[in-house]
Amino acid sequence: MSTWLDRRVEIITADITTLAVDVIVNAANPSLLGGGGVDGAIHRAAGPELLEECRTLGGARPGEVKMTRGYRLPAKAVAHAVGPIWRGGDHGEAETLASCYRRALELTEAHGYRTIAFPSISTGAYGYPIQQAARIAQQTVRDYLESSRAPLHVIFCCFSPGDTRVYEEVARELLQPR
Ligand code: ADP
Repeated sequence: MSTWLDRRVEIITADITTLAVDVIVNAANPSLLGGGGVDGAIHRAAGPELLEECRTLGGARPGEVKMTRGYRLPAKAVAHAVGPIWRGGDHGEAETLASCYRRALELTEAHGYRTIAFPSISTGAYGYPIQQAARIAQQTVRDYLESSRAPLHVIFCCFSPGDTRVYEEVARELLQPR
């Protein structure tokens, strides 16, 4: 693929709960006690032990990420990230979204994990325009990988072919010299 993406990064269309990676990221809400969308799917696939562990975490603020085990998921761990609710774009949404990606990568590295899969955080119920969110996701991951020596492998796991096309367009844009 002729994008900035190299062997360390890929874009796929899949149900994130099926991925046998080290870490999958959850687009959680501040309670960290489950919800709809990808959050509901992850809790269903992981089983009730996930909710038990989440109850011990005390919630999280937007931009924060907390890690749990993966229980019945094929993934070893879940990084629960609280994305921003889209409120027009001038309420710090971009910085909050970037923080989700950065903190998830930092925690992955700190635990010695190598492979991490992200859903398109905030672009479902939270209403973040997908093209803008995809740009922040990819820029933040690129900047992180450039500054880290950890052998991380990052997967952007889109849930529909349309979302995947947007991510691929953004990847091509990011190939342009800065
Ligand atoms: P948010 O509240 O952060 O917007 P949502 O779960 O509503 O979270 O949506 C975030 C993204 O996750 C959307 O792009 C949605 O299509 C996607 N999604 C929903 N279910 C799954 C799944 N099982 N695997 C991967 N992505 C999913």
